[in-house]
Parts: sequence; structure tokens; C-alpha cells
Amino acid sequence: MTSHQINPFHVAQRQFDQAAEMLNLPDDIRAILRVPQRELTVNFPVQMDDGTTQVFTGYRVQHNLSRGPVKGGIRYHPSVDIDEVRALAMWMTWKCALVNIPYGGAKGGVIVDPKQLSIGELERLTRRFATEISILLGPEKDIPAPDVGTNAQVMAWIMDTISMHRGYTVPAVITGKPVNVGGSLGRVEATGRGVMLMVREMARKLDWSLEGLRIVVQGFGNVGSTAAYLLHQLGCKIIGVADASGGYYCAHGLDIPAMRAYTDRQSFHLLEGYQAPGVERISGSELLELECDVLIPAALENQITGNNAERIRAKLIVEGANGPTTPDADAILGERGIIIVPDILANAGGVIVSYFEWVQGLQEFFWDEQDINEKLERIIVGAFDQVYAMATQRQIPLRLAAYLLAVQRVADANTTRGVYP
Ligand code: GLU
Repeated sequence: MTSHQINPFHVAQRQFDQAAEMLNLPDDIRAILRVPQRELTVNFPVQMDDGTTQVFTGYRVQHNLSRGPVKGGIRYHPSVDIDEVRALAMWMTWKCALVNIPYGGAKGGVIVDPKQLSIGELERLTRRFATEISILLGPEKDIPAPDVGTNAQVMAWIMDTISMHRGYTVPAVITGKPVNVGGSLGRVEATGRGVMLMVREMARKLDWSLEGLRIVVQGFGNVGSTAAYLLHQLGCKIIGVADASGGYYCAHGLDIPAMRAYTDRQSFHLLEGYQAPGVERISGSELLELECDVLIPAALENQITGNNAERIRAKLIVEGANGPTTPDADAILGERGIIIVPDILANAGGVIVSYFEWVQGLQEFFWDEQDINEKLERIIVGAFDQVYAMATQRQIPLRLAAYLLAVQRVADANTTRGVYP
């Protein structure tokens, strides 16, 4: 089966079922948590630069509302579909519960390749999509954020659109905004910073030195490039990175600051055309199979599957992306003794600082960056310690331990609230 044929929602349900079974959850709670609570599909027109009108399809899915308003990003990508958004929404529920921030999970997406749009088309698409899903949004209801293919500017347009409808500025309706319109310091780097902290904590447990640790990063967008940069600063050797333009490999370590400066100058922040002495071009699949200490998948779902798990030569995988490893791959990697820090923990830094941004927006009092980074570290390292302790005590993989903690919290909230009416 190719990665395109693996349905992410089936993967998410399989992961949930395994945890529900081990937790002995009652059947009614299982039935509630296995499916999203609300789903909205919108087909909406956008005026293109050439004068034509094109109809786009988008989704907003709210998986579970029992622990608070729902939270999760908006993805612009050609391969978005309802099952992918359902999976991503469910993963957000577990992620927020695991790091114990007061949100349920949601996700949104539009089937579009943003690289094919002009800036004007991107703005019009964003404003119309925000309008279409606005019946669901609000600081106390559903708070979107960036994801693959969206960024702080897109968040600013969404905030402005909702604010125009209401007639006053509503900063807390969305997170990941630019700092000059109520965004939080540290939010852009937050997911990558969390990934770096998880590598650091796991290295401590394994008694590894960070100096010279060989790391491979798949994805050089916001998450991958920030994680690579922060780990490079700690003395790790980033020997391979890849983005949509292919892979780049250097056994002595890539010059990550130079690569970041290069992508900053490119229109879609791609590494396409990057050259440097000693840097070899390799394919995306070769990159995943490089011999290294740590592999950080920081792109899309279904990258490590039953097809390539046997050939992965990392000792540790830290999941910057959501859903990069399928359950089949999990089983193979587990047997081979490869440790995985799961997505719902490893990439939770983004939503943690989104939570700080939302709180700062609601109270209209802003914190400095050091404060934010310290609070982020306390929360994510605290969650890591809990997951690690449970995994060690019960002799189970970190993913399962993370699921047991998260799913139990959500199940408890559902049980405490009861079934209405
Ligand atoms: N899209 C990010 C994620 O998958 C961030 C979500 C948020 O900040 O709400 O965790």
C-alpha cells in the first residue's frame, strides 16, 4: 500500500482503539470519542486574477468539546480531504489533553495548492473560507491556527475578517498571528522549539551527548527548519534535510543557518537550487533511510509505513509532523528497538504557545519571550516526564503511554459532564 492509500482517519481510530482497549473504556465513551462531534464542509467561490470564478472546497472538523473550546490549525494543501481533517482534529484532542491545556481538538483545511495562487487570490480565498466557517469560530468556541501551507499573514486575514463581521477587533479568535496584531512572541518557533526539547530530554535519558549527534530532518518548513536550527545551535550535526524540492546530505553536517537564509530569499521558502561544497542531492526516500541517531519527520502523514520501516536506520524518531508513522511501521520499529517520541507530545509546542497567545489576547497583557519559552519548556518537559515514567513503568512504547494519559483525561471529562439531555 502506498502512503497515499493509507487513510489517516483509520490510523487515528486504530490508535484510539488500542488505547481504549487498554484503558478498559466503557463502550458508550468509546463510541463518542471514535468520531468527530461536528463537521462542516464548505464549497465557496473565489474571484481569480484572470476574472474567472473558481469554487474551492474546505472543511472544519471539531472532534471533541468536553475539555473546553476546540483548537487546531488550518491546512492549505492539494491532498486535503475530510478524513485527513478528521484525523488531524482527533490528534489535536489528544495533544491538548496530554499537555493539559483546556481545549478540545479541531482542524480545518482547504483543497488548494497555495503556491499556485497570487497573493491577492490567497487573501480572497482566506477571507471567504473564514467567512464560511465563521459560524463555528470564536474565542470561546473554536480557535484556529497555522498548519501546513498557512502562516501568520493568513491568520491576520482571518482575524481581520472575523473582526470586520463583528465590528470590533477579536484577537483571541485565532492564534499564530503576527506580533503586531496580538500574536505572541515565540509562537513562530514554538513547535520547532518543542521538538528540540524532546530530542534533548530523550538524549538525557539515553545518556547521549548532544555534541555531534547526527540528525536527519524531513521537512524544512516552519517546524523542520526551526528544529534543525535550534539543534544545530546545541552542537548537533544536521546531516540531512529534505523539502518538496528533494533531499540534501552532508556527512560532516549541513550549514543550517545558511540554508535558512537561502530559503528566506526564495518565494515559497524552498531549498530548490541550494548548493554548497560537500552537499549531495538525494531523494526524499533516501533521506528517510539515512543512517543517523535521530530522525525528525516534520512534513506530512504516512511517511514511515510498513513499506520502509525495515529500512529506517535511526535510533530515535521525534515526530515533528502529525501522523508521520503508521501503526504498521510502529510495530516494526518497536521490534527493532527504535524509540519514537510521538507527534501528540513532540509537536505540542505549537499549540502550547497558541494557548499562551490566546490567554494573552483575552487578558490584553503580554509576556516577554523568555517568560514564554520558560513556560513552554515547563509544560512540554513535564508532559514528557509523565509519558516517560508511564512507558517505563508499564513497559510500553511512548506513543501508547501518551495515548493512555490523553485519552483517559478526555474520557474523564466526558464522563464527568454526562450525556445531555
Ligand atoms: N497546527 C498546529 C498543530 O498541529 C498548531 C495548532 C494550534 O496552535 O492550534 O499542532
